[in-house]
Amino acid sequence: MSSPSRRDPDQDAEVIVVGAGPAGSTAATYLARAGIDVLLLEKTTFPRDKVCGDGLTPRGVKQLIDLGIDISPEAGWARSRGLRILTGDLTLELDWPELSSYPPYGLARTRHDFDDLLARTAQKAGARLYEQTAVTGAITDERTGRVIGVRAKTGPEKTPVSYRAPLVLACDGVSARLALSVGIDKHDKRPMGVAVRRYYKSPRHDDPFIEGHLELWDRSDPRDPKLLPGYGWAFPLGDGTVNVGLGILSTSKAFRSTDYRALLRSWLDGTPEEWGYREENAVGKIGGAGLPMGFNRTPHYRDGLLLLGDAGGMVSPFNGEGIQSAMESAQLAAECVVQALARPEGPSRERALEAYPLALKEEMGGYYRLGNLFAKAIGNPKVMRAATKYGLRINSLLPLVYKGLSGCYDARGGDGVDRLIAAASRVTPSA
Ligand SMILES: Cc1cc2nc3c(=O)[nH]c(=O)nc-3n(C[C@H](O)[C@H](O)[C@H](O)COP(=O)(O)OP(=O)(O)OC[C@H]3O[C@@H](n4cnc5c(N)ncnc54)[C@H](O)[C@@H]3O)c2cc1C
Repeated sequence: MSSPSRRDPDQDAEVIVVGAGPAGSTAATYLARAGIDVLLLEKTTFPRDKVCGDGLTPRGVKQLIDLGIDISPEAGWARSRGLRILTGDLTLELDWPELSSYPPYGLARTRHDFDDLLARTAQKAGARLYEQTAVTGAITDERTGRVIGVRAKTGPEKTPVSYRAPLVLACDGVSARLALSVGIDKHDKRPMGVAVRRYYKSPRHDDPFIEGHLELWDRSDPRDPKLLPGYGWAFPLGDGTVNVGLGILSTSKAFRSTDYRALLRSWLDGTPEEWGYREENAVGKIGGAGLPMGFNRTPHYRDGLLLLGDAGGMVSPFNGEGIQSAMESAQLAAECVVQALARPEGPSRERALEAYPLALKEEMGGYYRLGNLFAKAIGNPKVMRAATKYGLRINSLLPLVYKGLSGCYDARGGDGVDRLIAAASRVTPSA
């Protein structure tokens, strides 16, 4: 159980968690519940906005259930029964699948509320949250190179401080400042994405389906319009607004030259007027950020530093979801750290920590390798066109496409489709 005596007098915590997004707050919660003395450092102050689509598929919902969070509509969650896919003249409404691993519904909630709720959950569990504390880099042991703490600037005066702990979790999102400070760079061959979004007041705010629009056209050369590898979404929030946005993969030629904000506007101008996605109904500005995908930053464990969530490039190359994988990585990391801290420093503890990247590989590695190939393939506009035109019109393929793209399948057991996705994930070679 928790005991300050377990912490060395020259250390500030048993574990330092950097960043209180979904990865950091989830990890801090599990660690604190296991009796670990956790310091959770966050550069902003809650509640705060975070650019995101605010949507969770059933796989993400499972993470909230595991944490014991009240996910009832009364507690402020918008619930979805499935996904509506729109492409050309085709509209499909697909309920979330019945599975043993995940519930048959999705959720949405603004990150303004969601991240605040998760951070408070970590605090309630016993983690010490220091807000307005921006970590600037790792402190390493000169002799061994091991990460033994972090430097930060804290408070309105940005006062330099340092904190020490035997283990540090990098949960600082796509900027990955902590990993970079110890030379863990991203792999440029893995896909990246860019996504932009805006809130609109809309009568569709309580639509029971979340929506995916598969046709995003780059018309920069009017003689040669190209179908972009990505999709537009509309995630109803049940509070009078809808989160509407789009995400594009780096695998297309248009990736660097596209003006994403202009693309969002031109796509929405083409949607029916009564949906309300027009300037006069917009709430706030268009926000955008990068999506680090398919394990584009590894190793996920080295010398006392674990990478979680976006910091470890864990956004799904299939659908751009990153909350659920951030929380899954947190659950796995916490399990390994709890075991590690129960062992003496040295090889035995290292063995427990090495289990973290292995567990990640087992949970997501094969599926992401498959996703990286998928991202590469649809970067070719002809393949993307064929996929949207024919892939969704073959009824027998639908469950495969739906479960595969959403990541909602039973990795163990399940039906034939689940087994096929699980097998394909296992046999896909490294990209
Ligand atoms: C437009 C857009 C739409 C998206 N839509 C969805 C979606 O609908 N569903 C989905 O699942 N995913 C979506 N994603 C991806 C998702 O937002 C991320 O994958 C997810 O937030 C990753 O969680 P994280 O905890 O790893 O990182 P983050 O959520 O980025 O959290 C990192 C935290 O660390 C803090 N931090 C950063 N640097 C420091 C520092 N130096 N010191 C201290 N603290 C620091 C930040 O303030 C932040 O609180 C979307 C992304 C974008 C850009």
